Amino acid sequence: MTAPKRTALRPAKPKPCPDCTTGQVSESFKVGARSKRESSDRQEALCLTCFGTGHAPE
Ligand SMILES: [Zn+2]
Repeated sequence: MTAPKRTALRPAKPKPCPDCTTGQVSESFKVGARSKRESSDRQEALCLTCFGTGHAPE
């Protein structure tokens, strides 16, 4: 068995996403539009720039 050569299909060094490092971003959010209290909690959200891949889109 010989491994097929992959030439220039993908760059060896993908560019990191400028908006995140792991494909997820932490963002604060307010709990409930009906509730008047704000939460200081943060939730992990999928990075919309790289769609969770952590790499900058080409
Ligand atoms: Zn990202």
